[in-house]
Amino acid sequence: MIACLGRIVHDSEAESKLDDDVSTIFNSLNLQGSIENGDVSGIASKDFGGLYSVKPLYLIRPSGAEDISRVVKAAAGTPHLTVAARGNGHSINGQAMADGGYVIDMRSTGENHFKLLTVNGSPCIDISGGALWEDVLRRCVSRFGLAPRSWTDYLSLTVGGTLSNAGVSGQAFRYGPQTSNVTELEVVTGKGDITVCSETQNPELFFGALGGLGQFGIITRARVKLQPAPDMVRWIRVVYAEFEEFTRDAEFLVSQKEDESFDYVEGFVFCNNDDPVNGWPSVQLNPDQEFNPAHLPQTAGPVLYCLELAFHYRNSDQPSTVDMAVSRLVRGLGFVDGLISQVDVSYMGFLLRVKRAEQDAKANGVWDNPHPWLNLFVSKSDIVDFDRTVFKKMVKNGIGGPMLIYPLLRSKWDSRTSVALPEGEIFYIVALLRFVPKGPSVEKKVAENREIVKWCIKEGLDFKLYLPHYRAKEDWKRHFGNQWTRLEKRKANFDPMAILAPGQRIFKRTN
Ligand code: FAD
Repeated sequence: MIACLGRIVHDSEAESKLDDDVSTIFNSLNLQGSIENGDVSGIASKDFGGLYSVKPLYLIRPSGAEDISRVVKAAAGTPHLTVAARGNGHSINGQAMADGGYVIDMRSTGENHFKLLTVNGSPCIDISGGALWEDVLRRCVSRFGLAPRSWTDYLSLTVGGTLSNAGVSGQAFRYGPQTSNVTELEVVTGKGDITVCSETQNPELFFGALGGLGQFGIITRARVKLQPAPDMVRWIRVVYAEFEEFTRDAEFLVSQKEDESFDYVEGFVFCNNDDPVNGWPSVQLNPDQEFNPAHLPQTAGPVLYCLELAFHYRNSDQPSTVDMAVSRLVRGLGFVDGLISQVDVSYMGFLLRVKRAEQDAKANGVWDNPHPWLNLFVSKSDIVDFDRTVFKKMVKNGIGGPMLIYPLLRSKWDSRTSVALPEGEIFYIVALLRFVPKGPSVEKKVAENREIVKWCIKEGLDFKLYLPHYRAKEDWKRHFGNQWTRLEKRKANFDPMAILAPGQRIFKRTN
């Protein structure tokens, strides 16, 4: 895989011919946007993962859905060309790339839609597929005092990019993933048709595109549900020595009614040592409330667990009312006595918390390191085994980045979307978010991820990859299980020549 890096040899003769071709192509496509030659060092050849690089033929910055439709139709008129929508390129395994094909930079369409509507008495916003969630947040809150209900932890991701996967964060236990909070899409299909779809209008395309890994169409507009935005958030971390106690509390909190739980529930695993990246210092929330490991029981093992919670409130709420509400919710949780830390932050500050981490990591030079990340959904029935083998043994010394784990409820996901989930009602998202210096250790970490997946398969765990990446069709069939036939049918309907999202490597381009 890593060997793919730099495998493209520049052919200067071919390149100069391409330069001539660019203007011809631009004119023949009648584009309103712009087009440039694919470049091995350009954005379309890279992603956040830093593991793969392939050279596209052209990078296109469309002005809107019409341009995208023209590009898809042009590709369809050739025997081999493919089209990849590139959101913000935050994939890990080249999913937004097109080797020798067209890459569409969706960011150029980010400003095309931003309109507040009321649908059945509830507020919604029409936003561009190429908009970044952080811009959606800022604009919705500042202009309307409203905000989407379900988020990702990090918001420099595009609307179309996360909706093509699921979009999961600590609100998903209540509202479902982002794909459960969309009522209408505009999509350019693999035939180049610009189609509006919803639960009642073209529902196969609507549900296919949600979590569809870009296989059925390019999302150019999404209608997203909104709710009143709170002003402030009480952000809380509590530490557990025992996995069983951590999962019992996490599952309890995600199963409570709205008024009887927090507004956000996540969790993570960290090492029981003073390592600045993997250990205690990484848990610190409030510098005035240092976690003191002396509180830990003698029985504490090599890894510990932290529940991360948030409680929304308004500026007009009395501090004592907020304190009482939080104390009531925290009471009865079985975390280690004394190991609680909390801080009050603005709602925007809370949702943009990973942006601050990004700025720090950029300043330290680690943000641009390769990221051999592994994301899984693991059924509650297997999570204790997973903890025993993966957290307590395989990665017990940390991974050089966060190790997230928190429960989600299947009933909050719509089974008509394309997302593949484990069977049980409660399943955990597990995210091993590695930051690895360039060099041979990257291959090692990729191999470690592979070992974990192999172990899950060998032990027959009820699990699915989130942000999946497989190469062999057999693996994709296993991943989708009994949804595979539906996926194939949808592909045949909406992208019969397999032009779209070639970087997912599910279907081969046909003529
Ligand atoms: P890209 O990587 O550009 O594209 C991803 C896939 O979607 C590609 O196949 C592409 O062709 C396709 N695609 C892109 N745009 C469109 C479109 N408009 N229509 C159809 N297909 C399209 N995920 C979570 O769920 N929760 C998190 O908390 C979370 N945090 C993250 C934090 C970081 C730092 C990073 C790097 C990733 C995180 N992710 C998270 C994963 C993220 O949701 C996915 O990587 C997502 O695909 C990235 O969006 P993007 O806009 O960069 O898409």
